[in-house]
Amino acid sequence: PVTFGTEIANAGGANELYVIFLEDISEKHHFEQMRRDFVTNVSHELKTPAGAISLLAETVSSAADDPDAVRYFSGRISKESDRLTELVQKLIALQKVQDEDGLAATDSEPVSIPKIVREAVAENEVQAAAKHIEIRMYFGDDTEGVTAETSNDGQPDTSLDDEIIVKGDADSLKTAVKNLVENAIHYSPENTHVGVSVRKNGRVQIRVVDQGIGIPADAQKRIFERFYRVDPARSRATGGTGLGLAITKHIVQDAGGTISVWSRPGEGSTFTIDLPNA
Ligand code: ADP
Repeated sequence: PVTFGTEIANAGGANELYVIFLEDISEKHHFEQMRRDFVTNVSHELKTPAGAISLLAETVSSAADDPDAVRYFSGRISKESDRLTELVQKLIALQKVQDEDGLAATDSEPVSIPKIVREAVAENEVQAAAKHIEIRMYFGDDTEGVTAETSNDGQPDTSLDDEIIVKGDADSLKTAVKNLVENAIHYSPENTHVGVSVRKNGRVQIRVVDQGIGIPADAQKRIFERFYRVDPARSRATGGTGLGLAITKHIVQDAGGTISVWSRPGEGSTFTIDLPNA
């Protein structure tokens, strides 16, 4: 679609002159549609837990003389309100990374990847332990070889901490890795392993490998979209928002990198972040 702007004719002259402004609005239209879809999605995602909370609260008040019921429904209310909080936090994070698109290079700092990986793993410790999942970390570069550690190793080998450096925002990059580790745990059965490896060879690669449910080929293209979930019911039941990978992708792009996925249903998934070396 095309819009036509002001039409100017020279005042009654023999050779009429027209100035026509042409503007392609298909992109604007597309953007507007995306914005509308986003608002619809957000409203829906917020309404679901909000509605549940209000229903559960009614149930609690009518079951006031049954302590077991009160405990059960209160627990569910608290779960739903955690969901609301997580959703709002992720929306704010998404807004922030979207606003920063294209600006990031100006306020970037040297970031030690082994350090942020260790922190991201530590922040997922409780969830991993609850499912008896061990997270193994590997750090390597071309000259020093590879070091391996698990989060409960005590004293980590920090010899590569000052070697594997990228330029970016430390908190954001940690969030990106944390989201991948969180998903790896989330979508894996109990008693499995999650591997997080960091490798420097010209560029810096962070790879998160799980032995989880995997992602069907047709869905692999879409998982980085906002609110896309392979199995909405399953993801919601386990507290997913469908925003984690969209946020992660923005962060990685802001740091000049790319993210990709390999996966086979029933075998597991591997997410790779590839960043320029500082
Ligand atoms: P969510 O909060 O739902 O996990 P994400 O944006 O982080 O949202 O992920 C989008 C979808 O991609 C998830 O709902 C899930 O279906 C799929 N997914 C992401 N990571 C994995 C993984 N490691 N294993 C299997 N499926 C995954």
